[in-house]
Amino acid sequence: MSLLIRNGEIVTPDSRYCADIFCEGETITRIGRGLEAPPEAEVIDAQGKYVFPGFIDPHVHVYLPFSGTFTRDTYQTASRAALLGGTTCFIDFISPTNKEDLLESVFIWHGKAAGQSACDYTFHMTVPRWDSGAESQLREIVASGIPSFKVYLAYKSSTGLDDPGLFHTLKLAKELGVVVASHCENATIVEELQRQFIRSGQTGPEWHYWTRPPLVEAEGVNHLLTFAELHGTHTYIVHTSCREALEAAVRARRRGVQTWIETCIHYLLLDKTRAEQGGFEAAKYVISPPLRDKDQQADLWLALRDGVISTLATDHAPTDFATQKALGKDDFTKITNGVPGIEDRINLLYTYGVCPGKIDLHTFVDVASTQPAKIFGMFPRKGAIQPGGDADLVIYDPNFKGTISAKMHSMNVDYNAYEGREILGRPDTVTVRGQVAVRNGVFTGSCTHGRFVKRDPSHF
Ligand code: MN
Ligand code: MN
Repeated sequence: MSLLIRNGEIVTPDSRYCADIFCEGETITRIGRGLEAPPEAEVIDAQGKYVFPGFIDPHVHVYLPFSGTFTRDTYQTASRAALLGGTTCFIDFISPTNKEDLLESVFIWHGKAAGQSACDYTFHMTVPRWDSGAESQLREIVASGIPSFKVYLAYKSSTGLDDPGLFHTLKLAKELGVVVASHCENATIVEELQRQFIRSGQTGPEWHYWTRPPLVEAEGVNHLLTFAELHGTHTYIVHTSCREALEAAVRARRRGVQTWIETCIHYLLLDKTRAEQGGFEAAKYVISPPLRDKDQQADLWLALRDGVISTLATDHAPTDFATQKALGKDDFTKITNGVPGIEDRINLLYTYGVCPGKIDLHTFVDVASTQPAKIFGMFPRKGAIQPGGDADLVIYDPNFKGTISAKMHSMNVDYNAYEGREILGRPDTVTVRGQVAVRNGVFTGSCTHGRFVKRDPSHF
């Protein structure tokens, strides 16, 4: 099977040019002007459109049991939504609680995904506790192709890791060449404030923010990077939401600490007034860290533009408003945290980042595709357009105009946090390793095509 994409404008972090791309089987084999295709090749005309490397979402939750319930997407629904939105590979989290066996949870997550995904995927391994059993299992898990860990400094009663655990996990990660992604919030402060608010009858969703102010996040970043500095471990700060946390990370970088910073599309586009609107509607916007003051957004955009923030993710967390967020109707601490976003990330970043000139096209590709591939050991197989790489391509139509709505979206969740937002562009055609998975904005792929991307450690 071969595919020729003609006349598109190829954009990568460091180049922009018009050329044809020829793919044989799963791989890009030639790039150049006026390429000839063999008669059996499919030819797609990309005139007037961009061609981007397939986008990578480095932070999604497809399968996640939590707070006594679980996320609504399956690998089928999430991968379909991802592809419609231009994402050809995502990284989910294997998330055992501190009582569950690590290897068994790896087996469970592989079982959920294998043969069920239309796009490629890989995993970060959550480390919820440290003991000798955990250490030998983690070595085995890294060797099986999962060279990135996730630690939660919050959520101490379920997945959160204590300080001795953090110390030893970071030490092992350094030895193995593993990147440690971290949710940075001080668990003690959050839990004490939650108790205080609930006790005094402040139980609505508008109080969520006040139990996790920017200080709590900045402390988490400081905390992580102090431990990481000691061992020289490479870390990755997930879902950074505010300048206080950015500043803590930048201070550590100045000391020579190697850390990457991720933010999420919701922190760029939504602010805390969403969670302060009257009534329980606000629960749709209960996320941790919380949505921040609107004036934080300009700082995040600048940090993205200047490369201080490396990646733009979603933290996709599809739980229904009517039945799951509603669990916290009388107690905001019981509202399922998070928003869905896997389908809308790229169109939103293009429309509200590239179109008004907050970031350029190169940065757009870099933060949403190339950097995730580089940091997590998939580059240049993914995150690039070059011969030898996977034929994961997005032909993007910058003339499309549409409106986001839960009525139309493909994610298996009953609301959309961006309901009614206009978008000025969308993926027209998307390929995953040479297979056309989206045509004219319609899913045409196969939910058995996606594959686990085995990664190697020590790529720095
Ligand atoms: Mn988190
Ligand atoms: Mn998350």
